[in-house]
Amino acid sequence: MLILYQTQLTKKINLASNVYLFEFSLIEPKEISFLAGQYLILLVPSKGETISRLYSIASPPWQKNSFELVVELIEGGVGSTYLKNLKIGDKALFKGPAGMFTLKETSKNKVFFATGTGIAPIRSMIMESQKLEVKSQKFLFWGLRKKEDVYFLDEFKKIKEKDKNFEFKICLSKETSLSKVESDFFSLGHVDYVFEKELFPKIKKTIFDFEFYLCGGRVVVESLRQFLLQKNIPQSAIFFEKF
Ligand SMILES: Cc1cc2nc3c(=O)[nH]c(=O)nc-3n(C[C@H](O)[C@H](O)[C@H](O)COP(=O)(O)OP(=O)(O)OC[C@H]3O[C@@H](n4cnc5c(N)ncnc54)[C@H](O)[C@@H]3O)c2cc1C
Repeated sequence: MLILYQTQLTKKINLASNVYLFEFSLIEPKEISFLAGQYLILLVPSKGETISRLYSIASPPWQKNSFELVVELIEGGVGSTYLKNLKIGDKALFKGPAGMFTLKETSKNKVFFATGTGIAPIRSMIMESQKLEVKSQKFLFWGLRKKEDVYFLDEFKKIKEKDKNFEFKICLSKETSLSKVESDFFSLGHVDYVFEKELFPKIKKTIFDFEFYLCGGRVVVESLRQFLLQKNIPQSAIFFEKF
C-alpha cells in the first residue's frame, strides 16, 4: 500500500549544470521504509489538479527521517519547474514507496550501469550493499558526457576506500583525453564500450555469477539490455528501471 508523506525541503544542492540533489525531511509520518532502488511519486499541484512525477530515492534505506532525490531539471517540465521553484522550508507531498527495481540480497556479484541521473537508485543500492551481510563484488559503470557533468566522485572514492569489493568507472562519452591520475576513476566512451573493454574479458568465464542493474533514459536502458542479452546473459539476471 502506498503511504502519503508530508515533507519539507531541507537541502537543495546544485550538483552539476541542471542536476540537483534535493533532501526532504519527513513531517508525517516521521519515518520512511523502502527498499534500495524504489521510487516515490511527487504530487505536483498544477492548475487546480494534481500531476504525478516519479523520482527514485537516492539515499540509503537506513536514512529514515529524510530522503534524497537526484533530479535533472528539464526546461519547462511540470515536475522540474515545481522542484526548481521549491525553496528550503517549503512543503511537498509524496506517495510511495513503489517499484520492483530493488537490490537483491544474493551472493551474486553485481554490475551497475547508470546513465545521468539514473545513478539515483543505484547510489542507494551501492550504499545499502555496504551493510549487507552477504558480500559480493560490485562494479559501477556510470555514463556522463563531460568532466564538468561529474558529481559524487568523492563519495564513490570514499566507498571504494572502505570496501575493497567495490570498483567504479565514470564513462565520459564526450571527452577525448584523460590524465593518468584521472584514468583511475574515468574512462572514455559509453558504458557498454568501457564494460566490454575493461571488465567483460575478466568475468566472461564466470558471467553466470553476476547480476546486472541498469538505470537511465528509456532508449539507453533498452539498448544496454539488448547488449547484455546478446552476451548470453540470462534475462533473469538483468534488472532495470527506465526513466
Ligand atoms: C520509475 C522512474 C523513476 C525516475 N526517477 C528519476 C530520478 O531519480 N531523477 C530524474 O531526474 N528523473 C527521474 N525520472 C523521470 C521523471 O519522472 C520525469 O519524467 C522527469 O523529471 C521529467 O518530468 P517533468 O515533469 O519535469 O517534464 P515533463 O513535463 O514530463 O516533460 C516536459 C518535456 O520534456 C521532455 N522530457 C522529459 N524528460 C526529458 C529528459 N530526461 N530529457 C529531455 N527532455 C525530456 C518531455 O518529452 C516533454 O516534451 C524517473 C522516471 C521514472 C519512470
